[in-house]
Amino acid sequence: MILDGKRLKEKILNDLKEKVSSLNEKPTLCVIQIGNDEASNIYINQKRKMCEFIGYNFIHEKLDEDVSQDYVLGLIDRLNNDSKITSILIQMPVPSSIDPKTIQNRVKKEKDVDGLNDYNVIDLLNNRDSLIPCTANGVLELLNEYNIDVEGKHVVMVGRSSLVGMPLFHLLENKNATVTLCHSKTKDLKSITKTAEILIVATGNKHLITEDMVKEGSVIVDVGINKVDGKLYGDVDFDNIKDKVSYISPVPGGVGPMTIASLAKNILKAYEIQKDID
Ligand code: NDP
Repeated sequence: MILDGKRLKEKILNDLKEKVSSLNEKPTLCVIQIGNDEASNIYINQKRKMCEFIGYNFIHEKLDEDVSQDYVLGLIDRLNNDSKITSILIQMPVPSSIDPKTIQNRVKKEKDVDGLNDYNVIDLLNNRDSLIPCTANGVLELLNEYNIDVEGKHVVMVGRSSLVGMPLFHLLENKNATVTLCHSKTKDLKSITKTAEILIVATGNKHLITEDMVKEGSVIVDVGINKVDGKLYGDVDFDNIKDKVSYISPVPGGVGPMTIASLAKNILKAYEIQKDID
């Protein structure tokens, strides 16, 4: 069975649109972009469309490639102190002259809808309610939608980035899964992936996971996005695996849409946290 992220995203966005229609004051997302990365332009446009659909306000602060880090920090301080701006997102990548962690950590915890600053990460590690990184949360929502319970299951997570693999590792542990975390230095990956009841892959290697590497009847979640000759591929060889497993997410149409849906949920959550503080 296909884990259909596109359909679930539509459902989530429609629910949010309804909720937001009853708010007097609308949540506002401000995206800070530094430079003019082509992929970033596309991702920001998707975020703008999502905001327009739901009824969030959307602000795009596009800064020159050669802007100083101090200027960016000053802008973040102004946005942090502006009560009308309820969400701040720094579009990655940033130029090498800027330290991503320094600017992410400057964003107020309750406005950090990417869930990437250290204060939200500490909450996640301690299993406290927090703004959770969008792709990781999107994977959990997708599993949840199909009633796939992770408790007690052996989950193999391939990839350990701070954006996807590492937060998922902790979120799954918090949900009482038994998680094995694999990475580029893991020896004999196949011997581990074959034991997974749930296999989640986020590495950025087209078709890293082949049919002989998965367990029959398992659940496969493919986070990877690899563009080759203008076509998108996942990290999993979908066509040759789909009949062997019980559930599998496609690329595109699986985790990608869920990332946007989770961002949309985080924007409302950030707004609600701030209203509670006021
Ligand atoms: P990173 O490059 O930051 O991390 C990749 C991870 O995969 C690293 O931990 C690396 O190991 C591991 N890895 C790389 N090659 C192998 C290998 N051959 N075997 C085992 N592990 C390996 O990438 P991201 O986590 O940011 O993204 C991963 C993929 O997910 C990309 O394709 C990206 O485009 C996609 N993505 C998709 C999103 C969506 O919305 N669907 C959102 C974000 C990302 P090590 O730590 O040892 O280097």
